[in-house]
Amino acid sequence: MQIDIMTLFPDMCNNYLGESIIGRAIKKGAVSVECHNIRDYTLNKQKQTDDAPFGGGMGMVMYCQPIYDCFQAICEKRGTRPHLIYMSPCGKVLTQQRVVELSKLDNLCILCGHYEGVDERVIEEIVDEEISIGDYVVTGGELPALILTDAVMRMCEGVLSDEECYTDESHFSGLLEYPQYTRPAVWRDREVPEILRSGHHANIQKWKLEKAEERTRERRPDMWEKYVNNKEKQT
Ligand code: SAM
Repeated sequence: MQIDIMTLFPDMCNNYLGESIIGRAIKKGAVSVECHNIRDYTLNKQKQTDDAPFGGGMGMVMYCQPIYDCFQAICEKRGTRPHLIYMSPCGKVLTQQRVVELSKLDNLCILCGHYEGVDERVIEEIVDEEISIGDYVVTGGELPALILTDAVMRMCEGVLSDEECYTDESHFSGLLEYPQYTRPAVWRDREVPEILRSGHHANIQKWKLEKAEERTRERRPDMWEKYVNNKEKQT
């Protein structure tokens, strides 16, 4: 998979993408990410990329031309038109289900807003989808774009060591994950549940499912309702 990120702060993204699991996956060529500086495409002599909003109000708005030209250059470079996502608090909140769907695409492009956001007309002209990382506002689209990139990339082949790494995790099958433990078996008088040390695979699996269900029921009644409804449909 190829992900292109359009941003005014490419270093913010590159620093994160060079590290840990995603960094290793990029180095070995399992996935590829390129950050494009929107400022490189502005026709403004002072290299400006934003202006005051029409109608007044606080802050600055990123204007259409550099964003549009940056996207055209990416389309030309890739030889295709990638699905373009604008990270925005006005978008649909990201879910694991959408992450899995997006991970099946070959090309993805992500637009990061900054300041007060982006001129609506460029969104209408080129953006396919707006995605939010939650019902709160951060200063720029870079962290949201990295969250989306990370979540999508770890679903791609060759990024995690085994499919089980994610199929077993929170949200993949509509449940939160069961509690996890490592050594030592006793820490500050807190013992790891006996069953996890029993070596009895079937009982361990049963315990994990029970704990995942218990946790989801207690912490996320919204998820629990969906899970129960889906289970009923399947029987
Ligand atoms: N004026 C905008 C509003 O009220 O909806 C907020 C602009 S925000 C300060 C600047 C940029 O950060 C946005 O253009 C967007 O790219 C990004 N951003 C902020 N919060 C976000 C969120 N919850 N999800 C995705 N992107 C977000």
